[in-house]
Amino acid sequence: MADKFDVIVIGAGPGGYVAAIRAAQLGLKTACVEKWIGKEGNVVHGGTCLNVGCIPSKALLEASHKFVEAQHDFDDMGIQAGDVKMDVKKMMARKDKIVKNLTGGIAGLFKANGVTALEGAGKVLSGKQVEVSKDGESAVYEADHIVIASGSVPVEIPPTPLTEGLIVDSTGALEFQETPKRLGVIGAGVIGLELGSVWNRLGSEVTVLEAMDSFLPMVDSAIAKETQKLLKKQGMDIKLGARVTGSEVKGDEVVVKYTDANGEQEQVFDKLIVCVGRRPYTQGLLGDDAGVKLDERGFIFVDDQCRTSVPGVYAIGDVVRGPMLAHKASEEGIMVADIIAGHKAEMNYDAIPSVIYTFPEVAWVGMTEQDAKAQGIEVKTGAFPFAASGRAMANNATEGQAKIIADAETDRILGMHIVGQHAGEMIAQGVIAMEFGSSAEDLALTCYAHPTMSEAVHEAALAVEGHAIHMA
Ligand code: FAD
Repeated sequence: MADKFDVIVIGAGPGGYVAAIRAAQLGLKTACVEKWIGKEGNVVHGGTCLNVGCIPSKALLEASHKFVEAQHDFDDMGIQAGDVKMDVKKMMARKDKIVKNLTGGIAGLFKANGVTALEGAGKVLSGKQVEVSKDGESAVYEADHIVIASGSVPVEIPPTPLTEGLIVDSTGALEFQETPKRLGVIGAGVIGLELGSVWNRLGSEVTVLEAMDSFLPMVDSAIAKETQKLLKKQGMDIKLGARVTGSEVKGDEVVVKYTDANGEQEQVFDKLIVCVGRRPYTQGLLGDDAGVKLDERGFIFVDDQCRTSVPGVYAIGDVVRGPMLAHKASEEGIMVADIIAGHKAEMNYDAIPSVIYTFPEVAWVGMTEQDAKAQGIEVKTGAFPFAASGRAMANNATEGQAKIIADAETDRILGMHIVGQHAGEMIAQGVIAMEFGSSAEDLALTCYAHPTMSEAVHEAALAVEGHAIHMA
């Protein structure tokens, strides 16, 4: 038997590595097991988020947005940049460098905080033991507490089996070395819209095929409608109610078959990205007698405080219920480490923000107006368009609006939904307001710096009582 730890965390994504660091900071002897093999053939930390998710996608979104700005916005501002060109390979090299810096940084954080990094595949055995296997060798470690943070993987669908370089998942779409002329994206969710945006900005003709009839149903319908209009204006062809039924690879092309309201359709693409969601990843994770139960959808079953069916074994992040978001995983990691260390800790699952990093960004927290009404809650709402914001005009970013949904009786903020430049930063105001149980009036009575994009949130709060200043 090898070492014994207070806590062993399995998985070093944003759930696992944060849990491990917090546990070590709280004085617990902690190890973190990771098996992800990076581009250079060694084990790397950071999970989906740092390697093939949040960070690389944002590196490409930022570069491609700057390319569009240089082409279309500079001239208006008096900047003459000449013939702007994009070097896709260089853009990818920059993305890889950012990923390498960040993933390497976690090893440094582990060292600084005294977390033992164990390399290999972790398996939960009975009696709170963890077997770690690598290159045919294995060791068994004992722990008082185990935290499972094994994450998720992309869902594959039978009509479009992945085909090297032609039909890819989100990971493959972060590796194109040139801009495809005709790009198909299956799924108009967060990841599909972000990746579609990257390549649309770089010149691809992008068609998004979405089986559902509604666009972004989790976002307030006024904001979703405006987002759809803006993405369409940018050239993205978003087909709703388009159910993909099959595909055929013909030479360098992919023929996709789908059905919509008009019957059977076919479209030819040079590349196809399948972004139909992610599923919890538990392959090889649980020994036969581990006792950790899964729910009917394959997620590890946990309570509100991430306890599994086995006392002392916790699970967090994408492998458990709730939104598949890096910050949700990290917050659960902190909560669980605190609980293990004997502190009282809980999470407010009603105040988890979501962001789509398109341009403009879409961000939301809490209920939509439609959700509230469906639950029989009477609401009042206030909205403010960025077209009326001085800062938005100065920024050349007048598209979008901020909307606040408040309880009609108590004025308590139930939700905030924004489409606009920097919406992802602005939404933190809604999250903090909801955490503190604020009313719309609390925001309306707050002094905002001028000129900022955030003033739209202030005006939306004023608009809840019909008192926006800069709106007729
Ligand atoms: P993961 O990050 O998936 O990490 C799990 C880790 O566990 C992996 O490193 C894996 O190798 C390891 N592991 C699994 N099993 C074992 C085992 N048996 N032994 C050892 N190690 C194991 N979220 C956001 O909040 N914002 C975004 O902008 C965003 N953008 C995204 C863009 C894309 C393209 C994708 C694909 C995802 C994006 N996400 C985003 C989602 C985000 O990446 C995930 O929600 C987040 O990574 C989940 O964290 P996690 O720690 O639960 O799991």
